[in-house]
Amino acid sequence: ISKIAVLTSGGDAPGMNPCIRAVVRTGIYNGLEVVGVRQGYQGLIDNNMYDMSTRSVSNILNLGGTILKTARCLPFRSDEGMELAYQNLKSQGIDGIVVIGGDGTFTGALRFSKKYPDISVLGVPGTIDNDLYGSTYTLGFDTATNTVIEAIDKIRDTADAHDRLFFIEVMGRDSGAIALRAGISCGAEAILLPERATAIEHLIENLKAGQYNKKSSSIVIVAEGDKSGGVYDVAEAVKKQVKFYDIKVTILGHLQRGGSPSAFDRILGSRLGFAAVNALIAGKTQMMVGLEANHIKLTSLEEALNHHQFKLEDDLMQMSEILSI
Ligand code: ATP
Repeated sequence: ISKIAVLTSGGDAPGMNPCIRAVVRTGIYNGLEVVGVRQGYQGLIDNNMYDMSTRSVSNILNLGGTILKTARCLPFRSDEGMELAYQNLKSQGIDGIVVIGGDGTFTGALRFSKKYPDISVLGVPGTIDNDLYGSTYTLGFDTATNTVIEAIDKIRDTADAHDRLFFIEVMGRDSGAIALRAGISCGAEAILLPERATAIEHLIENLKAGQYNKKSSSIVIVAEGDKSGGVYDVAEAVKKQVKFYDIKVTILGHLQRGGSPSAFDRILGSRLGFAAVNALIAGKTQMMVGLEANHIKLTSLEEALNHHQFKLEDDLMQMSEILSI
C-alpha cells in the first residue's frame, strides 16, 4: 500500500471528522499518500478528490458533519459507475480505500472490492443508528443520543409545568437504539421501537398507572420506524382514552444528526481510523474495524453484512419499564 483514499458515505454522523483526521495522520505517519474524496462514492466517479496533508485535518475534531461531505450515490450501484470509480482510483495510483458509513456503504464497498481486488477496502462503522454487526458502538450514536437527551430534558420541564404527556419522535427507521438509550436516560414512561409491536392498550394502562401514582408529566419516546403508524397516530389513539393529560407531539428531526462529537465519538473515531489504516498496511481488505469489549476487532464485510441487524437488548427494555413505575 502506498496511496490511500478516504471517504464518508450515506447518512452523516458526528465522529466522522475525528475519524478522517486519524486516517490522514496515521497514513502520513506511515509514509503513505492520502487523498480525500468528496461526497462519498460520487466523488470517486467524478474524480472529485484532493491530496491531504497533516494540516488538512487541523481543528476538525470538534466539528459535526463531515469535511469531506457525504452523499447517496445511485450511479455507484451500476457496473459502469464502479468501472469509472476504479479507473479514477487507478489513474491516481490509489491502492487502498477507507470507507466510513453504514451497511449500504459497506455493501457497495464489498461489491467494488470483489470486482477490483487490487484495491484494498477497509470499512469504518459510521451511523447514528448503532445497527452494524461487529462493533458494539458505531460513530455518531453516542453524540446523537446525548443530543436527544438534552432536548428531552427541556421538553420534560414544560411537560412537568403543565401536566402534559409528550410523544417524542426520535430517529431510527429500523433501529430502536437511540430510542432505547434515550428512554432510559430520560425516564420515559414508554419506548416504542421498530423491533417490537406496540400494544396501545398496554401503553394506556401504563399511563393510567402513572397518573394514579401521581406523575405530573409523562414522556413516551417513539422511534421513527415504530410499526403502529407513527407518532401522530399513537398520540391520537391515546388521546381517545387518556383525558387527564394535555397531549403534545414533538418530532426532534435532523437536529439529532448535528453537533460537536462527544468525547466518546472523538475517541472512537480516532481509534477506528487509526486501526483501519494499520489494517490496510498489514495487507487486510474487505474488512471492517469495530470496537468490541473495548478492543479493536476486524470483521469481514461479508460477515458484517450477513449478520446485519440491531439486536435490541431485552434486558434494558425490561429494566426501563421497571424503573419508570
Ligand atoms: P446510513 O446507515 O446512515 O443510511 P448507509 O451507508 O447505509 O448509511 P446508504 O444510502 O444505504 O447509506 O448507502 C450509501 C451509498 O452506498 C449509496 O448511496 C450507494 O452509493 C452505495 N451503495 C449502497 N448499496 C449499494 C449496492 N448494492 N451496490 C453499490 N453501491 C451501493
